[in-house]
Amino acid sequence: MFINIQKFNVLLTLAILAISGQVTASTMSERPNILVILTDDMGYADVGFNGAKDIKTPSLDALANKGTVFTSAYNVHPFCGPSRAGIMTGRYPHKFGSQFNLPTSNRSGGIGIPKNETFISSVLQNAGYFTGAIGKWHLGEEEYFHPNNRGFDEFYGFLNGGHHYFPKQFKARYQKQKAQGLEHSIFHYLRPLEHNGKEVDEKEYITDGLSREATRFIKKSAENKDQPFFLYLAYNAPHSPMEAKKEDMDQFPEIKDKKRKTYAGMVYAVDRGVNEIVKTLKETGQFDNTLIVFFSDNGGKPKLGASNAPLRGRKGDVLEGGYRTPMLFHWPKRVPEGQVYKYPVSSLDLFPIFADIAHAPIPKSKKLDGKNILPQVIKNENARAGEMIFAMRHRNGFSDSAARRDNWKVVQHSNKSWQLFDIEKDINEQNDLSKQHPLLLREMVAEMEIWSWSHVQPLWFHIHEEGFQWREKSMPRFHETFHIAKPQTID
Ligand code: CA
Repeated sequence: MFINIQKFNVLLTLAILAISGQVTASTMSERPNILVILTDDMGYADVGFNGAKDIKTPSLDALANKGTVFTSAYNVHPFCGPSRAGIMTGRYPHKFGSQFNLPTSNRSGGIGIPKNETFISSVLQNAGYFTGAIGKWHLGEEEYFHPNNRGFDEFYGFLNGGHHYFPKQFKARYQKQKAQGLEHSIFHYLRPLEHNGKEVDEKEYITDGLSREATRFIKKSAENKDQPFFLYLAYNAPHSPMEAKKEDMDQFPEIKDKKRKTYAGMVYAVDRGVNEIVKTLKETGQFDNTLIVFFSDNGGKPKLGASNAPLRGRKGDVLEGGYRTPMLFHWPKRVPEGQVYKYPVSSLDLFPIFADIAHAPIPKSKKLDGKNILPQVIKNENARAGEMIFAMRHRNGFSDSAARRDNWKVVQHSNKSWQLFDIEKDINEQNDLSKQHPLLLREMVAEMEIWSWSHVQPLWFHIHEEGFQWREKSMPRFHETFHIAKPQTID
């Protein structure tokens, strides 16, 4: 087995510091475990702690009650691939060409999130953490971009953007197509899961399989008390295809709408998994020393049964419903209990928070767009007073764009004029105040334009049509995006 030189150097440095008394044994043993539980396409009102009236999530709610709930948590993008690229790199994906989902194929054709964008997993692994990724990857399928080559000791799941849930059904379809000699074109949602590059024969409902593997990882990590863990558990639930277990749907006899009922069952399966994970953390004596972060990669799709209430918009939009999601932190004695944190935060903030609490050195060359907000979160103060949080989704010939600063939000949606909302008072983005505050609008849009100067051309497109449109329309056309029409300017 090869020794990771960088990791060896960090461990050596830590050992020298420990000998010299700069890092005591107790400091090292206090390094917490970090558990990220990510759901896929979950709406703002699809967990009990964030307003769901019909879906039960008792395990998540229990964590929320004993932790801090973030009511203005933003992802960097309103759909999967770029959002996850932001989480892993701590940077806006527009800055390294990852603005679009990777192409739909069984292999990603030699592309993935550029390797010079260091992942948080590598930073923690190099600092001595035992690292695992379970579930959906969607950041590059070739070996070069494989989780095991991006800072994860363990990987269990699938490399592409989604999966069917019932093994009996998807295995039968997979075998049938394979028998027809279609090995290379079989839809990736049907393909076998893998463990560290080797195919596995998963027999459980996928959400249950991923929960099982998470508990296995946590138990394994407990064997070495001196080594904390970082686990990135990325459920594909409740992303389509909409497939729930009957007993999970039976938890919701009062829900009559079939789509909502299926969706509720899929969310409930995640919550059952969280219950098992919490139980395992407690049984192995790791619960109190684990930061648990729960959130979704983007907003929900109402036509599939999700609810983003009271937010406007849906997955794919830069309206709030597209990229503002439920989020909680749970860490006994470190993160305030029963707190609601209303100030805006970004998934970009996770990278610097994790590195800080892990005492993990960040490479000097590493650029970050987020910040360690934990000290302000603990004090329930605005960690980003006067700072902007951006979202941009490119469409056919124009870009949906939005920025949040304190209680204000500017947004340009569906190629219409820029609008301004007092998002704290007007969470549903109904009352456009751009005419009342034209200077504020101009200032925020101008600041977003400065942000856009750091963007680069996309390295790939999800489908050829998207790339064709991009070139045909000479995208990104930022001279139009940031132009404010005359009626909105002051005289
Ligand atoms: Ca998603």
